[in-house]
Amino acid sequence: MRKKIVAGNWKMNKTAAEAVALAAEVAALVKSDVPSNVQVIMAPPSLFISEVNKATEGISNLSVSAQNCHEKASGAYTGEISAPMLASAGIPYVILGHSERRQYFQESNAQLAAKVDAALENKLTPIFCCGESLELREGGEFLAFVAQQLTESLFHLSAEAFGQVVIAYEPIWAIGTGLTASSAQAQEMHAYLRQHIAGKYGQAIADACSILYGGSCNAQNAAELFACADVDGGLIGGASLKAGDFITIAKSF
Ligand code: 13P
Repeated sequence: MRKKIVAGNWKMNKTAAEAVALAAEVAALVKSDVPSNVQVIMAPPSLFISEVNKATEGISNLSVSAQNCHEKASGAYTGEISAPMLASAGIPYVILGHSERRQYFQESNAQLAAKVDAALENKLTPIFCCGESLELREGGEFLAFVAQQLTESLFHLSAEAFGQVVIAYEPIWAIGTGLTASSAQAQEMHAYLRQHIAGKYGQAIADACSILYGGSCNAQNAAELFACADVDGGLIGGASLKAGDFITIAKSF
């Protein structure tokens, strides 16, 4: 059985007090309402990760994630945070390759391969994001494009290392637009990616890999998306900023 995961990417939102309040609300609701086989993850801005992490103490199916890390372990990279730093602060997950990082910070597939290595070397679980633009979707080459993102950033890994990675498919045209992928579109991509993984690592590893959907996933549409055979949960943006909505999504399996 694959792990079911609902991760909230808070992006650049919330003040210190708001972050602590949201984390406390989410923690209380995970405890009371979310089945223990669903892993819930909060990815706050890096400044607040340690504080938010405190709210997860003693709740086995609630964790925190960073939204990014640098590929180098340390050095003169002003403003950056490294994988060993995250590990030393007890942070278990890191989102890598979000389309906003690719777009605004020019992260390439090759750079992301180095970030994935840095994360895994430090025993962090990467939540590796992939996804196509509207132009690519309309041009028809979107399946091959997204498969290529996996090939270039992940397929250098050993089978054992790949087995640690969580994948999040986030079509760029669905992020923050209210225009979610249909369950058929999500299933088509997720099944294609799983087949692509099986071609490299074999069926057993492909079948064990959690592939999350992200892009305007909300309390109304999560159940239909999560009902798809190859959709193992969600990476949630806007709807993760309200504890009630986020937990409704986490209960949508
Ligand atoms: P929205 O859920 O706001 O569309 O964002 C999705 C996302 O980018 C999560 O990483």
